[in-house]
Amino acid sequence: MGIYKPLLIFIFFGTSLFTVEKLCPFCDPDVIAKQFVHETEATVTIYCLTPATKGNLLIIPKRHIEKFEQLTPEEMQTVQKEINLFSRVFTSVYGISEFVILQKNGKNAGQSVAHLHFHMIPAPKPFAEIVHTAFHFREKISDEEIKLRTHELQNFLSTNP
Ligand SMILES: [Zn+2]
Repeated sequence: MGIYKPLLIFIFFGTSLFTVEKLCPFCDPDVIAKQFVHETEATVTIYCLTPATKGNLLIIPKRHIEKFEQLTPEEMQTVQKEINLFSRVFTSVYGISEFVILQKNGKNAGQSVAHLHFHMIPAPKPFAEIVHTAFHFREKISDEEIKLRTHELQNFLSTNP
């Protein structure tokens, strides 16, 4: 039995070293190849497997990072360029110039793949109804409550530059 122990330890380490790439679909070359649309030096743009509307894309930094805060200004600039590019592409290909940009930042925000990605979702006319239903279910708060909440943030910012 003793002879197998080092082997098991080796296998454990051997697999754990590659866990991130293995489990992350956005680091998987096969996934990227299958859904590929466009790439830059810093980002890859793929077609969403479960599109909200026709044309739903995912703009993904090539670097495996999970959260928006980890994105460099240079990467963010590239993401913006991709959004501008596909804004023109959506208009030409689908005749739709309006879209939703959606980035779920963390599990509680609904992020299902732990590799930062921006959804770019073309918004045809009936889609506005869906967006309104999804995001406009909230109650309007009072003027007093707005004052309290804005001051809470402003106070924090004034003491934490
Ligand atoms: Zn990844």
